[in-house]
Amino acid sequence: MFSLLGLIDAKSWPRIARLNHNDDHMYGTGGRSAQPCRACNDFKQWAQTNVHNKTTEPTGDQHVGKECPLSRDQLGRNTWSLLHTMAAYYPKEPSPQQRTDMKQWIEIFGRFYPCDDCAKDFRSDIATDPPQTQSQQALSQWFCRIHNKVNQKLGKKLFDCKRVDERWLNGWSDGSCD
Ligand code: FAD
Repeated sequence: MFSLLGLIDAKSWPRIARLNHNDDHMYGTGGRSAQPCRACNDFKQWAQTNVHNKTTEPTGDQHVGKECPLSRDQLGRNTWSLLHTMAAYYPKEPSPQQRTDMKQWIEIFGRFYPCDDCAKDFRSDIATDPPQTQSQQALSQWFCRIHNKVNQKLGKKLFDCKRVDERWLNGWSDGSCD
């Protein structure tokens, strides 16, 4: 596997990723195993369609404290943590190569994110508001905007993007994270 990966140059990766993705919907609803997809649905939806859980009424919290596959919300929270933290530590003055890499990374992420509906909307959001990779500040604000689009869609409170560095880089200005 490693020697095979070594033969694939960086420029081929996006093309290979696109080919795999178009192959069929390997990830997301159904997937290779034809099992209901936890990461595509909220926990209750997943539990209602999962044969192993049909006899019990789902409460949404019976797996708390256990190491189980992620639900859509758990995956979302963990993924936003990675995305905002990546943006927080992105260079203030990225090189042209770093800018290209980040843009490609975001595009590939949008093809493989395991929640199909989320990924589809993400791809359409980045088509209308393309990734801003010119600086740490631009990228952090861009991810904040994109996340707020999802918040809005889900009827959640919008995040104040002026405070994005406090949340993901420096800690709150009241010192509560120190
Ligand atoms: P989250 O929204 O996960 O946020 C985590 C933390 O990030 C918050 O506690 C807050 O401190 C901080 N935060 C919130 N907003 C912002 C912001 N704008 N900028 C910076 N920090 C912020 N779920 C769906 O049901 N449907 C979808 O279509 C969908 N699309 C998604 C697309 C992507 C790319 C991702 C990563 C997730 C998506 N999700 C979707 C999951 C959804 O966004 C939430 O992660 C999930 O509902 C859990 O929400 P939460 O309230 O725990 O907080």
